[in-house]
Amino acid sequence: MVGDRQTLRELVSQLRADEGRLRDYINDAVIGAIIAKADHNAYISLVEANRLDDRLGELTSLPPEEKAKLPLYGAPMAVKDNICWKEAPTTCASNILKDYRSTYTATVVERLEAAGAVVIGKTNLDEFAFGNSSESSAFGPVTNPYDKTRIPGGSSGGSAVAVATGSVPLALGTDTGGSTRQPAAFCGVYGLKPTYGRLSRHGLVAFANSMDQIGLFGKNPDDLRLAFAVCAGEDPADSTSVSLPDTFPKPFEPGRGFTVGVVREHRGAKGVQPAVADAFERLLGAFAELGCRTLEVSLPTSVHSIAVYVLTALAEASTNLERFDGVNYGNRVEVMPDDVVFGPDADRLMKMYAATRGLGFGEEVKRRIMLGTFALAEGYYDAYYLRAQRVRTKIRRELDEAFSRVGLIVSPTFPTTAFKLGEIAGDPLATFLGDLFTNPANLAGLPALSIPWGSDGDGLPIGMQLMGPAFSEERLFTTAEALASKP
Ligand code: GLN
Repeated sequence: MVGDRQTLRELVSQLRADEGRLRDYINDAVIGAIIAKADHNAYISLVEANRLDDRLGELTSLPPEEKAKLPLYGAPMAVKDNICWKEAPTTCASNILKDYRSTYTATVVERLEAAGAVVIGKTNLDEFAFGNSSESSAFGPVTNPYDKTRIPGGSSGGSAVAVATGSVPLALGTDTGGSTRQPAAFCGVYGLKPTYGRLSRHGLVAFANSMDQIGLFGKNPDDLRLAFAVCAGEDPADSTSVSLPDTFPKPFEPGRGFTVGVVREHRGAKGVQPAVADAFERLLGAFAELGCRTLEVSLPTSVHSIAVYVLTALAEASTNLERFDGVNYGNRVEVMPDDVVFGPDADRLMKMYAATRGLGFGEEVKRRIMLGTFALAEGYYDAYYLRAQRVRTKIRRELDEAFSRVGLIVSPTFPTTAFKLGEIAGDPLATFLGDLFTNPANLAGLPALSIPWGSDGDGLPIGMQLMGPAFSEERLFTTAEALASKP
């Protein structure tokens, strides 16, 4: 699994020097992806052979000085299937989009390709990224690489499995409420949710715009650092994207009075598995060994994070999914002439919408559209969506205040290790309740990294979350590197 210690930088320098090695490596990646698809249903589609040939031809024909300029030369990568790549379908794991091909490629993927990366395939997910188990895909559930009777986490389960099984060293996910960090934790890999706005969302199929971020999966912090540097930065196609600030929050400095925050309200959080609680204590021990102080911080409003997240996410999702109506986007289900009771055309149009959306969307998607629509309806908007935004501001302010006193806030990534297939499927409340540690970073737009941190008695990986102030990705990477020798 994540035994391969070679970093992307080392790999890339070998691939640049040796065309044969590049071709072999990419072949192995494709075979790895075929196996991960067969064994774990991790991929929805794989790159077409002709396209891959062209791409390898493009890369190998470059003169050495051009190759040297590409930081990801020849590095295979996987892309979550709610991010557009024009060389393959973008399905969002939904029937409504199962034949959809975008006419353009997402900015982040474009940047990675321009840096030399080779896309191997598109990975499986919860339909429209709604969930945390990767079971609601119209293409069937993804399974965990450590135990096939368990889920890999979600919604970016396929990307986490793609990296954990070694088919690719790098994969893109998305993270609206935890969907990169939680599957990273369940599959024993690193998963970064960057600061909101730092990666362009152009070409990401929107779920909840005010929280969506593209996330990165990798096998070590330096691989994430390298890929992140390639993708980050302003994009004229995404008005919420930002350029890099001149001054960064300082990186991690072990033994220099660096202070790590532990959230008071997390103490005694319900449903935390004992092995996860023990792992967290070990994390605090490791920080102490690195010469860091631990400080308790209070985030009183954070106990409402899940409620605020759910209201915000569902409200925004319900409006985003309006475009899948069989006219703008989505597979149209024509109302057959036999079904049409002769009537005005408008009636026929409504039937087409109902048939298209009724058959195209899965259960969880329909539930979220209905609840989100309700929360935005006239007369309810103030009581729900607007109030949620006020509470969200309080949560953000409390976090800002905490980060004036601590360099990082740490917690487990998720209260448990990977659960069994079917264990919480169809229980929307259970799906949301597990996200208590991950939601605040999305509500406040902050960066957070899940690091692999030991395993439970059944050998299932445990992940710990490092959350930092805005733009502190480099601090997260340096901290993760300092901790890497510890568990
Ligand atoms: N588990 C959360 C949800 O179900 C988060 C999903 C995500 O980050 N895409 O909405």
